[in-house]
Amino acid sequence: MSPLAAVHRLATGAPADLEHCPFMPTYAAPTVQFVRGQGTILWDRDGNRYLDFLAGLAVVSLGHAHPEVAEAIARQAHTLVHVSNLFATEPACEVALTLDRLLGGGGQVFFCNSGAEANEAAIKLARKWGGRGRYAVVSAYGSFHGRTLATLHATGQPQKHEAFQPLPEGFRHVAWNDLGALDDALDSSVAAVLLEPVQGEGGVHPADEAYFRGVRRLCDERGVLFMVDEVQTGLGRTGRWFGHQHFDVVPDVVTMAKALGNGMPIGACWARRDVAGAFEPGDHATTYGGQPLAAAAARAVLKVMERENVPARATTAGAQLRDRLASLPQVREVRGLGLLVAAELEPPLDARRVAAGSLRAGLVVNAVSPSALRFAPPLMVSDGEIDEAVTILAQVLAEEEIR
Ligand code: PLP
Repeated sequence: MSPLAAVHRLATGAPADLEHCPFMPTYAAPTVQFVRGQGTILWDRDGNRYLDFLAGLAVVSLGHAHPEVAEAIARQAHTLVHVSNLFATEPACEVALTLDRLLGGGGQVFFCNSGAEANEAAIKLARKWGGRGRYAVVSAYGSFHGRTLATLHATGQPQKHEAFQPLPEGFRHVAWNDLGALDDALDSSVAAVLLEPVQGEGGVHPADEAYFRGVRRLCDERGVLFMVDEVQTGLGRTGRWFGHQHFDVVPDVVTMAKALGNGMPIGACWARRDVAGAFEPGDHATTYGGQPLAAAAARAVLKVMERENVPARATTAGAQLRDRLASLPQVREVRGLGLLVAAELEPPLDARRVAAGSLRAGLVVNAVSPSALRFAPPLMVSDGEIDEAVTILAQVLAEEEIR
């Protein structure tokens, strides 16, 4: 069908032919079009049912179409969708109070719309706090912090940098889980260290407890901020409200997004009050950050998560998922925390082929590396759904093995 015919179909109310949608080629061509979700289940436009063990990349932690979140969004849409940040609104204030409480208190919040923006805010805050001459941010190889130019440079994957040089200055990378390497990198130009509690996009590699504690100690000794990127790990995903809480450290800055809105775009950068105080009016802003519609969704998300003790569910369901995956003969290693899990496949199995086969069989997972699958289902996933997902995967793996 020609692009013109596709436009005509749209104008006449016929469903869009996806092949002709004028999207930039930043994503691989999708093979499935989802039209509806409920809890852990998705349906495509042909009525096929899928178990969603990716949750929109660790976003839909309360499951699709959660009734209380849907109701909160609908009510807010009929009340007040947006005003500028020149004015106060109730939902954003309540969300900021709750986040501050969950992080131990004594901090302040900046709202934005995505994970990259939350990290961008943290990086700017570190520079403002550090003052001239103290600006560098040290992050780890294998990390992922976003796709804006600054967060791309913070991302410790040099192959992703190549095409976009020159990137903003002031970023350097050190080996993951290696305290000595970090120690060597902390010279007087460093304002902050930025780390994930579990490297998610980098392959689901949890930090060692001793490493995170050591980083806190080093940052204290050198007067450097410890900033933790909880965009993927935050809000119950790992079995605690925030991943760093497994390691008993208190960061200076915490960024989050993904699960905060259960799919409504909202991100946040929290900082200790004395650090946050480095920002003055005019230093940073975003038109939509914390607007009432997104904040009302986040308020409902936090209310449900607290009432249902969702982090505890992530712990028990995560243990069940890891046990079941470890019992598969084609899985050589299972790693992760809570419901952020990766299964390393026995060679020569190709994780991309297995993910594609799983999708055809009705299970949504993704290949987080050529040899590992990532599982990040809604945190409310049932025991039965975990059994069903692993049964589908076992079948796909057995078929791939004999090919
Ligand atoms: N930080 C981490 C740890 C992430 O996993 C991601 C996204 O996957 C980001 C930042 C970027 O978030 P966003 O895609 O919302 O900009």
